[in-house]
Amino acid sequence: MNTAKSEVLYRQALTCIPGGVNSPVRAFGGVGGTPRFIVRGEGAWMWDADGNRYLDCIGSWGPLLLGHAHPAVIEAVTRTASMGTTFGAPTEAEVLFAEEICRWVPSAEMVRLVCSGTEAVMSAVRLARGFTGREKIVKFEGCYHGHADALLAAAGSGVATFSLPSSPGVTRGAASDTLLAPYNDVSAVQRLFGTHGSEIAAVLVEPVAGNMGVVPPEPGFLDSLRKVTFDNGALLIFDEVMTGFRVSAGGAQELYVIRPDLTTLGKIVGGGFPLAAYAGRKDIMSHVAPAGQVYQAGTLSGNPVAVAAGLAQLKAIRTIPDAFERLESTGAMAEDALGRAAADAGVPVCVNRAGSMLTVFFTPGPVRDYETAKTSDTKRFAAFFHAMLNEGVHLPPSQFEALFFSLAHGEEEMTHFKKAATAAMRAVAETRGNE
Ligand SMILES: *Cc1c(COP(=O)(O)O)cnc(C)c1O
Repeated sequence: MNTAKSEVLYRQALTCIPGGVNSPVRAFGGVGGTPRFIVRGEGAWMWDADGNRYLDCIGSWGPLLLGHAHPAVIEAVTRTASMGTTFGAPTEAEVLFAEEICRWVPSAEMVRLVCSGTEAVMSAVRLARGFTGREKIVKFEGCYHGHADALLAAAGSGVATFSLPSSPGVTRGAASDTLLAPYNDVSAVQRLFGTHGSEIAAVLVEPVAGNMGVVPPEPGFLDSLRKVTFDNGALLIFDEVMTGFRVSAGGAQELYVIRPDLTTLGKIVGGGFPLAAYAGRKDIMSHVAPAGQVYQAGTLSGNPVAVAAGLAQLKAIRTIPDAFERLESTGAMAEDALGRAAADAGVPVCVNRAGSMLTVFFTPGPVRDYETAKTSDTKRFAAFFHAMLNEGVHLPPSQFEALFFSLAHGEEEMTHFKKAATAAMRAVAETRGNE
């Protein structure tokens, strides 16, 4: 595979962009090698600067549920942009979009639009604190909620504890109001409430974890979070930036039949543009300025072009009656292909999946939290990643990320995926792992 142009561009990028990329995981740090510079996408496929074609299993890290350059989205975007790209004044489409989101997401009664998932979660946490008058939040190890200071906290051990900053530049003060528990560990959360119950504003959770690789909630986990927050006067925030409009039409809250107090949305909701949202109970959302006292604002919030893209994508998904059944069966096909290929090659793996998002962990498993996710053989993953890339399948370049499938991944695409997986697992069997 010729990658000369990507290599030149990457060297040039390294001189003027930190690490050569505008978001860290794009740099192939976890797998080595040169990131591919992409020039074009269509449906489930994308092409790099050297003309190589890949089956895209990243989907821009989640947003592209219809694949690249869907005609309905492109038409809405170009039509809207030609009438002006931003006004800093309200538009009708924002109202229609907020109503559309409330129709899809069971717990959403009011919606505020922002520009990124990070901003949505940061704002929802501020709102939870402002509403409850409490300062602490509970998050789970291995869950990612964007890069706001208070949420860049990871545990020093598997035991629930006060968190330490996980990045230079995050103050101890910002991290010290964040309490940590292992994912799927109800008793750790109950212990935190036992000690800090009256200080906890909210429990923040990825209802299906996707940012340590896919880790579904065990039966009863989300129900227990609902109960313990309710009993203690704290809010439950579902961070559905990844799961919203993906694991079912109404997100994880519809799939598991739980009503969080607040929900954050991103990725799919923006139709491939920088747009995200937080939503929830009317009595809570009414505390957001200018209706209430909790301040949150944005020059480009509710940007007309981004709103047009998000609205067009949601509406186009709605016109496909079996959209979520198809996503489920595509995900199941991928899971099956990976499982068989690994078994045939004698490579121990654990495939975790929720609908059209999945992760193949190079460990026998089970993977139920961050500790067990970290038992994965990352060298074997790197070998798998590069073998897949050579076979023309672009996976997320990290063991601890989810593969995303879209409605553009049809029969031809999944046949390509299966063939590549079979070859790639054979290659993995011949490489040395982490030792
Ligand atoms: C991607 C993601 C975020 C951050 O969204 P950005 O748009 O990258 O800021 C937050 N929470 C979850 C669960 C995510 O998957």
